[in-house]
Amino acid sequence: MKALHRQQSCELHVHVGGCLYADDLLELGREVYTEVDWSLFVRSYEEAFGVRLDPERLFREGLRSEKGRERFCRHYVYRQEDGGDFGRFQAKFDLLICLYRYWVQHLHREEEVLWRIVERHRREGLDYVEYRAMFPVDDPVRFLHFHRTNARVFQQACTGDFTARYLISLPRGAALAGYELAQQLLAENPELIPSVVGLDFCFFEEGHPPEKLRSFFARLEADNQRRPEQALEVAYHVGEVYFDKSLESAVRWCHQAAQLGARRLGHAIALGLDPEVAMVRRPGAHEAEPVAERLAQIAYDLEQVRELEAFGVEVDRGRLARERLELQGRPSVEMISRPYTPQRLEEVRRRQDFVLDQLVRLGVAIESCPTSNLRIGGVPSPAQHPLWRFLRSEVGVAIGADDPGIFDMSLAAEVDWVAAHAGMDEVALARRLGDPRRFRFGQERPV
Ligand SMILES: [Zn+2]
Repeated sequence: MKALHRQQSCELHVHVGGCLYADDLLELGREVYTEVDWSLFVRSYEEAFGVRLDPERLFREGLRSEKGRERFCRHYVYRQEDGGDFGRFQAKFDLLICLYRYWVQHLHREEEVLWRIVERHRREGLDYVEYRAMFPVDDPVRFLHFHRTNARVFQQACTGDFTARYLISLPRGAALAGYELAQQLLAENPELIPSVVGLDFCFFEEGHPPEKLRSFFARLEADNQRRPEQALEVAYHVGEVYFDKSLESAVRWCHQAAQLGARRLGHAIALGLDPEVAMVRRPGAHEAEPVAERLAQIAYDLEQVRELEAFGVEVDRGRLARERLELQGRPSVEMISRPYTPQRLEEVRRRQDFVLDQLVRLGVAIESCPTSNLRIGGVPSPAQHPLWRFLRSEVGVAIGADDPGIFDMSLAAEVDWVAAHAGMDEVALARRLGDPRRFRFGQERPV
């Protein structure tokens, strides 16, 4: 057995839709592509890439010739040259959303799409997968139907040598509303409780501070204590795409998500990408942030002076108090700029060390998705990948494929990539990563 077999057979970070490959889409679209409403994809693709596509032609030619198929792949597969930009990624993702919606709303055959995903994972040799998916909360009936169908298929997919579990992704801006519906789903379908083990927050993170979810996390904690047999754990995408704020704030968001109760952080690039690399990714990157973020950072620093200073981060209480007083008189959305100095960048590195250490103490692991970080997360090159920093620390790390279909990758290929670039032999790497199953959700539930 290969040294990294445990890591290559357990997937903890994968989005259902993102598991569809270009060939799956061509197959699913073969009979219906002229009927599908492609407007969402056409609009977002044009916005993101400045090109107006004709999806019917893409499918027609993609199904007819190898050249057409290559063209189809070019417009669907998200590659590094597409640029580390979440909007561009979402535009390509919208192609599968349009097709998937048709299978749900017109054919009522979404189970076939899900089985296609599960079967591929089984063929690849995965034996434990936590799937996650999101649906808008503004249509509760369809929200419930969507997640019920997903959870049922994943439950039915379990066999002696394959286990699938399900996480319901909640919209960051409507977490409590989504959570109520998730609880309703479990109340109406108690047979699904063993399969639905967690909740997830994904999609755009910018504009959604973890702090705003304080009441959601408090409610979840209370419910989990009251009904431990159906406790739900939280996976939280954070520090993935964070150009809208300072590097200190991006590091703080990761810490706060863990403090609030998230059990696994998705990506957390902000904790591992060197600040000097992060800030040169775009002109003026991370220099400006809203007054509200700066005030939140000041409050955070003043709350844990001693802990930060133990990691070499100097906290000048008097200066911060004066800055706070000055900022409190300004509009919270006003943008303020603070240029970086070498000393400030060094302090950000120490803050990263501090938060990685805090994650170890809190028992919170990072789901690191190598290809995703290179293609969406704006990690400029393999050598600069945040994962190397995580591996040098003691933080728990699980390797995930995120959206293997749209990246045209697999979990095994992701782990091979890590082995090829980590600068460690496979046995040492396997030992450092350990068995990712120790981070799976649902283990806290009483048997
Ligand atoms: Zn993800």
